[in-house]
Amino acid sequence: MSFLKDIFFPKFCLSCGKPGIYICLNCQKKLEYIKIQKCFYCKKPSLYNLTHQICLKNLSIDQIGSIFYYNDFFKKIIKNIKYRFAKEIFKELFKIINVNQINFLELYKNLENDVFIQPIPLHKNKFKDRGFNQAFIISQYLSQLLNFPVIDILERIKETKNQAEIKDRKKRYQNVRGAFKIKKDVDLNLIKNKRIILVDDVITTGFTVNEATKILKKAGVIKIYCFTLAQG
Ligand SMILES: [Zn+2]
Ligand SMILES: [Zn+2]
Repeated sequence: MSFLKDIFFPKFCLSCGKPGIYICLNCQKKLEYIKIQKCFYCKKPSLYNLTHQICLKNLSIDQIGSIFYYNDFFKKIIKNIKYRFAKEIFKELFKIINVNQINFLELYKNLENDVFIQPIPLHKNKFKDRGFNQAFIISQYLSQLLNFPVIDILERIKETKNQAEIKDRKKRYQNVRGAFKIKKDVDLNLIKNKRIILVDDVITTGFTVNEATKILKKAGVIKIYCFTLAQG
């Protein structure tokens, strides 16, 4: 099967066009690990990117960790993942990632039991169009690294535009406001006083994950961390 697919849909490097691979050895160097550890809100240094106590407002995120900078090369990966063979591109990417370069992973590993991984959901119409949720694929990868289970309790009830297509900050906020809710059949005792790692592909303003955080904390979740592949 995979052999036939290679004939009809030959692989090319997403950046330089080299055949046989999506992210060639040479272009792998264009992936830049984020080394600086800082608070997402004030941008000042903070271990494991934890939100400073003083920056932590009611219902805000306790930590945001991203592996790579959202540079031009990473933008190409994400763009292609949305329209092409996402699972295979991700498979290559996950093999390339050097977990020793992810400084905040230590924080997650030191969390005790009762931590869940929740992908940022797509609206059902978008899910139907695309056939998969990239945040779910990333969640499975993280679940393998950390041994925490993936849950699926959030629902996207608003058909939002792609945040990247909106330039105005205020409009970006309005775009995702009220976008999520907890699924009807979820027993809230499952998440009460528990911790959740939210997962998305890219974070820019943080409005999307913030919105999801609000809903989950209101429902009784005690800590929310956020894991993304890239940060722009
Ligand atoms: Zn290349
Ligand atoms: Zn801060």
